Amino acid sequence: MRVLSVTSECVPLVKTGGLADVAGALPGALAAEGVEIRTLLPGYRQVTERLSAPSEVLVEWDLFGAEGRLLFERTDGLDLLVLDAPHLYDRPGSIYADPSGRDWPDNAVRFAALCWMAARLAAEDGDAWRPQVLHLHDWQAALTPVYLSQMAPGTRPASLLTIHNIAFQGLVPATQLGALRLPPEGFTPAGYEYYGQISALKAGLVTADRVSTVSPTYARELATADFGMGLEGVLAARGSDVLGILNGIDTALWDPARDPKIAGRYKTIRGKAKNKKALRDELGLPEADGPLCVLISRLTQQKGLDLLLEAVPSFLEEGGQLALLGSGAPEFEVAFKELSAGSSQVSVTIGYDEALSHRMIAGGDAILVPSRFEPCGLTQLMGLRYGTVPVVALTGGLADTVIDANPAALKAGVATGLQFHPVTAGGLAQALDRLNRLFRNPDDWATIQRNAMAAPVGWQSSASEYAMIYRELVVSA
Ligand code: ADP
Repeated sequence: MRVLSVTSECVPLVKTGGLADVAGALPGALAAEGVEIRTLLPGYRQVTERLSAPSEVLVEWDLFGAEGRLLFERTDGLDLLVLDAPHLYDRPGSIYADPSGRDWPDNAVRFAALCWMAARLAAEDGDAWRPQVLHLHDWQAALTPVYLSQMAPGTRPASLLTIHNIAFQGLVPATQLGALRLPPEGFTPAGYEYYGQISALKAGLVTADRVSTVSPTYARELATADFGMGLEGVLAARGSDVLGILNGIDTALWDPARDPKIAGRYKTIRGKAKNKKALRDELGLPEADGPLCVLISRLTQQKGLDLLLEAVPSFLEEGGQLALLGSGAPEFEVAFKELSAGSSQVSVTIGYDEALSHRMIAGGDAILVPSRFEPCGLTQLMGLRYGTVPVVALTGGLADTVIDANPAALKAGVATGLQFHPVTAGGLAQALDRLNRLFRNPDDWATIQRNAMAAPVGWQSSASEYAMIYRELVVSA
């Protein structure tokens, strides 16, 4: 079974968020299911730099303004197809934004080009490696089925579109229809028109053969006005077509028993103490009676950081500590810097630091994920794996991956973390209070930590689910 995974980011080459983790883990996870995945990525600087002797697969003379070449190389454990198009991708700054943090004005075209080449590869006759299934990730890959039906109206590979976060939809003015090479007849409410604009994500939602998202709860939430971000009607119309398949984490990369990035490797919760001490030393945090909470995140409204700013003072007063690592909205960066300046119990690191994130997860007692919405969430899974108790909002994938330490779960000995609802500052404050009390009850606390470490967080069962959908898609194509 040949699958082309089309994505704008992929670990270990380029990452801004969880999409990269998932795109990077799927090929390995699915190999055992007999699925051969090739990953198509834009040729950003940091990607083309990694290629040593790629072979040329396809050339497009006019790929939205200049030549684009599809290159293939096996590198970093991936079968990688790189779209080499310097006019679109060879730029300073981040993959989505210029050095000052503003989105590149031609992002719609940059990712339309990615979709165009995915479609070309899928439509190709002859000896080229041709996918049987297209696995499209987020709006950046979502125009692929539209182009494919233009290029190859008859038989063509089936497509699965996975929504990693519906907050990002790839909206552009209708005047760009021609620039994006989109047929005007598709610009209707049943097609890619969205309140007068073009929506790349909607194009994929209405044309992909199947749609999935990254947790069963988020799949249900997406069909509601509170979470669908204006696309709830489109999602609801697809009904049971929208599948929820939980993300996993790479349990070889995230393994407290073998992690080279942490202070002391451990197989049981007793081993956490050394890491906690090392983390406190590194971050300049003093000894304290209460739990040390860590948080690793993009600093955006989605992640509920304003709720934390409101809830955290009483937690600190009760002996708790907070270590935060993240970057994002300037107002949150400033607010957390101020919080740490005003309290010796708070450490704030602004930036992106993979190795520090490992040390924080190994050294923390608890990991916070107070998101307003969370398609799946990965840091709570990392927390579970390291016996670092997740404290999460009851939403999306957070609802599906943590077992709340309520009295019944404690009595049954199955709790793995704490969940709070409503997702408000008050709800979070209560959860932090509950955390404090559980932490001071050594038996309950040790049980939760042990359960957390034993929770299944790998890809095994989800990989089988993806493999099953791929097979269904091939049979029905
Ligand atoms: P999202 O994709 O919405 O950003 P996820 O929880 O799905 O959220 O995935 C975020 C990923 O990015 C996780 O692997 C997390 O550890 C990582 N991450 C986020 N911010 C940082 C940071 N500042 N430093 C290191 N890793 C980070």
